[in-house]
Amino acid sequence: MLEKLKLTTLKGVGDKLAEKLATLGLNCVQDLLFHLPLRYQDKTRLTPLHAVRPYEEQQVDGVITAVQFRQGRRPSLLVTLDNGALNLRFFHFNHRQAQQFVRGKALRAFGEVRPGPTGLEMVHPQYRLFEPDHPPPLADTLTPVYPSTEGIGQSTWLKLTDQALRLLTQYPLPELLPEHLNDLPDLNTALRTVHRPLAQDDLNALMEQRHPAQQRLVLEELIAHQVGLARLRAQKRTLKAPSLPPSHLVNQLLASLPFALTGAQQRVLHQIQADLKRTHPMQRLVQGDVGSGKTIIAALAALQAADAGFQAAVMAPTDILAEQHRNHFMAWLKPLAVEVAWLNGRLKAAERRAQLARIEDGTAQVIIGTHALFQQAVTFHRLGLVIIDEQHRFGVHQRLALQQKGQAAGLHPHQLIMTATPIPRTLAMAAYGDLDVSIIDELPPGRKPVHTAVISMAKRDEVMAHLAQRCRAGVQAYWVCPLIEESEVLDAQAAQTTAEQFRRRFPDLQVGLVHGRMQAEEKDAIMQAFQAGELQLLVATTVIEVGVNVPNASLMVIENAERLGLAQLHQLRGRVGRGEKQSHCVLLYQPPLSATAKRRLQVMRETTDGFRIAEADLQIRGPGEVLGTRQTGSLQFRLAQLPRDEALLPRAQDIARTIVQQHPQRAEALMQRWLAQRQDYALA
Ligand code: ADP
Ligand code: MG
Repeated sequence: MLEKLKLTTLKGVGDKLAEKLATLGLNCVQDLLFHLPLRYQDKTRLTPLHAVRPYEEQQVDGVITAVQFRQGRRPSLLVTLDNGALNLRFFHFNHRQAQQFVRGKALRAFGEVRPGPTGLEMVHPQYRLFEPDHPPPLADTLTPVYPSTEGIGQSTWLKLTDQALRLLTQYPLPELLPEHLNDLPDLNTALRTVHRPLAQDDLNALMEQRHPAQQRLVLEELIAHQVGLARLRAQKRTLKAPSLPPSHLVNQLLASLPFALTGAQQRVLHQIQADLKRTHPMQRLVQGDVGSGKTIIAALAALQAADAGFQAAVMAPTDILAEQHRNHFMAWLKPLAVEVAWLNGRLKAAERRAQLARIEDGTAQVIIGTHALFQQAVTFHRLGLVIIDEQHRFGVHQRLALQQKGQAAGLHPHQLIMTATPIPRTLAMAAYGDLDVSIIDELPPGRKPVHTAVISMAKRDEVMAHLAQRCRAGVQAYWVCPLIEESEVLDAQAAQTTAEQFRRRFPDLQVGLVHGRMQAEEKDAIMQAFQAGELQLLVATTVIEVGVNVPNASLMVIENAERLGLAQLHQLRGRVGRGEKQSHCVLLYQPPLSATAKRRLQVMRETTDGFRIAEADLQIRGPGEVLGTRQTGSLQFRLAQLPRDEALLPRAQDIARTIVQQHPQRAEALMQRWLAQRQDYALA
C-alpha cells in the first residue's frame, strides 16, 4: 500500500517539493519511511547552565543579561545568558531578530557549545524565547536530523515523517523476512523507533547506528543486497561466452621471459585459464599489490584469446599507462606473430582510421588503449576478452560499456579486471559479490621494501640537493608535484616550476617533465627517455600514479604529501622499489598537519603492505571513499556500512539463501523495497 502512495498525497507536498524529494530518490510514502535520520538531537532534557560542557550539543534555559553588537573582522551579535555562564553568538541576523533579545527575558537554546573569546558560546543555536514562569515543555522523543537537500528544512522532514508514521500505523509494511528474529524488533517497530526514538532509548547506540532497531533495518538491507547478487549470479550463468582453450603460445611467451612467474602469479594464471575455457563469461577480479606483476598475467590471458581466434581488448586509465602497456605487449607478442593495435584519444586522424580498420576487420588481435576503446566509432571484429587495468580508476558504467561492445551473436566477452588498490576482504565481498576474486599475494623475488621518510617542506632545498647528489651517483629519481600549475586556491608547487628550479640549480642533471596537459607523443618520448636511463630525474604530476614501471628508478620525493590520500600515496610510492636496489621515498609535507594527515603519513612510514594500508584507509575514511565514488555503483547502501556492519553479513547471507530458495516472491519484494532506485546495481 505505502509503496503505491505518492508523496503528493501528503499534506504540504506540492509539485515543487515532490520534485526535490524525487532527486533524493523519494517517490512514495514507503521511500520516505526508509529515509532515515543521520543523527539525533536530545531535546528531552535540559543541561543546567553551570554544567555545560564544550564540544557537545546541549539544551539550556537561561535569562538574557546582556546584548551586545560586536565589531571586528566578522561583526556579530552576542547574547549573554545568566551573567556570562554562556553566550549565544550570531553572525547573521536581522534587525527584528536583534530586537527580540531583551534583557530579563528567558530563552531556551539548543546547539553545540564551544570555547569562544569571551567564554563558552553557542554559534547560531536553535532558540525560542519564553516568559520566565512558563518554560515550554521538553520534547518527548529524541529529535531526528534527516539527510537533506537545498530547500528542505528539518521542520519539513519532521512534518512529512510524522504523516508517514501515522500512515504506517494504519497500513503496516509487510514483513518480508521469513524467520522470526528474536533479538531484533519487527520491521514496523524498528521504523518507528528509528524515526522517533524515545527519551529512554540509548542515544549513543543510535548515534553509532548500532541500536537494535537500526540493526534490524541494516540486516534487511544486507539481505536484499545478497538476494540481488544471487540473482545477478544466476543471470550470468545463463549467458554464453566463447570457449578459449589453453594455448601453446602461452608457454612460448613464458619461456622467453627473463623471469619465472611467482607461485601466486601461476595460481592466478591457472584460475584464469580454466575460466576462459568455459562457455559462460569469466568475471574475475585480480587484486595484486603494486609491483606484484599483473601486466604479464594480462598479456598471457590476451594471448589465449588471440590464439583461439578472438580479440582481446586491454583498457588502461591513462595515456602513459596505455602506452607503456603497448610497449610491453608489443615486445612480448610481436615475436609470436600476434598483431597488436593501439587506440587513444589523441591519435592523428589518419592513424586512428588505420587502427580502427584493423580492429574492425580482425587483423588486430590484441587491442590496447584508454577509454577511447569504447567509443562509438570502435567496432570489434570478434571480441572474446576484455581486460581492465587499474579498474578503480574506471566507473561501473565504463566497465559495462566496453563489455557491451563485445556482445555479438549471443556471445559475451570474458572479463578480467585488475586492481592494485587492495580492497579489504569484507568490502570486496560486498562490492564485487558478483565477481570471482584472485589475489596475487606475493611480490617477485628480490624486492626490498621502500624506506620512507616524512620531512617538512621547510627542508625542501636540502632534499633537492640530496636528490641531485644521489642522481649524480647514478640513481634515477621521481619528484612528484600534486598539481599542474600554480593555483591560488591550493598553493601546490607546480611541476613546471620545480623542473625549472632543478635545471637552474643543477645544470648538470638531465631533468624531464611530464604532466597531464602534454601531448601524448611528448609524454611518451619523455617516459621512454626516462625508461632508457637518459634522464636522471623525472619531475611529474600524479599522471605517473598508476602502473608506470621503470624498475631502475629507486628514489621518489612527493611534495605536499599531506594532500594525498593513502591509496594514492601507496600507488605513487609503488613506482619505486621495483628493482633490486634499495629504494627510498621522501614525503614532504606542509605543516601544520591535521590529525588525519598525520596518521596517513605515519601509516606510510610504517608499512609498504598494500592490504594493511587499505585497512588503515578504511578506518580513517570509511568504505565509500576507499572504493572511490565512481565505482561504488554496487555499494550504495542506504543504511548499511562496512566494515561497521560486517558482523551481520554471514546472517544476511544465510537468510538471503533461504529467501531465494523458498520464497521467490519475497525476494522480488525485497529488491523492490531496497534496490529499486539502484540502477547501476541492476546492471553491474
Ligand atoms: P603491477 O602488478 O603493479 O602492474 P607490473 O606488471 O608492472 O606490476 O610488474 C612490475 C615489474 O615486475 C615489471 O618490471 C615486471 O616485468 C616484473 N615482474 C613481473 N613478474 C615478475 C616475476 N615473476 N619475477 C620477476 N619480475 C617480475
Ligand atoms: Mg600495473
